[in-house]
Amino acid sequence: MINVTKTFLPPLDEYTAYLKRAWDNEWLTNRGELVLELEDKLKSYLKVSNIILMNNGTIPLQIALKLLAHNGEVITTPFSYIATSASIVWENCTPVFVDIDPDHLTINENKIEEAITKNTTAILATHVFGNPCNVDKIEKIAKKHNLKVIYDAAHTFGVEYNGRSLFNFGDVSTCSFHATKLFHTAEGGALFCANPELYNQCYYSHNFGHNGPTDFHGLGINAKMSELQAALGLTILPYLDRVIEERKKVVDFYFENIDFNLVNGIKIRANTKWNYSYFPIIFKSENILKKKTFKLAKHNIFPRRYFYPSLNIVDYLRGSKMEISESIAPRILCLPLSHNLMKTDLKIIVDVLNG
Ligand SMILES: *Cc1c(COP(=O)(O)O)cnc(C)c1O
Repeated sequence: MINVTKTFLPPLDEYTAYLKRAWDNEWLTNRGELVLELEDKLKSYLKVSNIILMNNGTIPLQIALKLLAHNGEVITTPFSYIATSASIVWENCTPVFVDIDPDHLTINENKIEEAITKNTTAILATHVFGNPCNVDKIEKIAKKHNLKVIYDAAHTFGVEYNGRSLFNFGDVSTCSFHATKLFHTAEGGALFCANPELYNQCYYSHNFGHNGPTDFHGLGINAKMSELQAALGLTILPYLDRVIEERKKVVDFYFENIDFNLVNGIKIRANTKWNYSYFPIIFKSENILKKKTFKLAKHNIFPRRYFYPSLNIVDYLRGSKMEISESIAPRILCLPLSHNLMKTDLKIIVDVLNG
């Protein structure tokens, strides 16, 4: 069976060697030596100055919204995973959707200003499929209107924009290390924040507000990554460049062999070093998407409908009409993409799509 992605699993004995250290230390969580080591290694791998590892990729969104959005209106994209808008509602803020740009599938920066009201406190945008939002324009708008910017950078591991890690942009940027993501710790995530004062607030928040064993810096929650998760990340990180290379080969094959008269691809923003995290194609109609999905299923090939539905039509979100997102969401399919796809399977996929 071939799914949209295949979790990269490193050699088990290399994982257990890291676990042995946790056993020797008799220390399984509370920012142990493995979490600290993974933070250091990720800082140099990603070329970022700061990182806080967390237990998934949703809790850093919640922490950022709690600290920055203050129950206000949060301008956001309807084309993302449900966690993006769900976190806004969970933190008692109001999502205000702004439609996407049809080429890049990121929030349409030119439509943000008209959605700003006196209650707007923040912008939460997603770098969809690792494709950067127009971070320069969004930063200008945010400055002008005194808004905070949070990036859901769940798909963005390793992506660089203008030679800098994409995690460096926004007041806070977050990542997911879920098993389906490019770099993973089974469950896990991270928060990035360059401002030292805000970084400290995020740091305290992720550990119940603890400032030492008996002192509290304020309200907090438990978002800590465990040593078991960090051990997995440490085992996988040395393989990641090879994983990305293998995925690039698959992406190149798709680009060379898919008939782009029949489907559209997405446009990666200029000056981006992309990470080959997803390979979405957009069909002319939902009907064709369904037919092709059905045919692929007969070969035991299961792409995924990322992202469907457009989040503004989810009942508890009830946003206003988003023409582009509602048009694209039913027609977009993410093709299988992983480090170990066989040429024979890739040929089947392409033949079905082009047939
Ligand atoms: C995966 C994902 C998340 C959530 O991450 P978890 O680690 O599963 O909590 C948030 N936003 C986007 C866009 C995602 O794809």
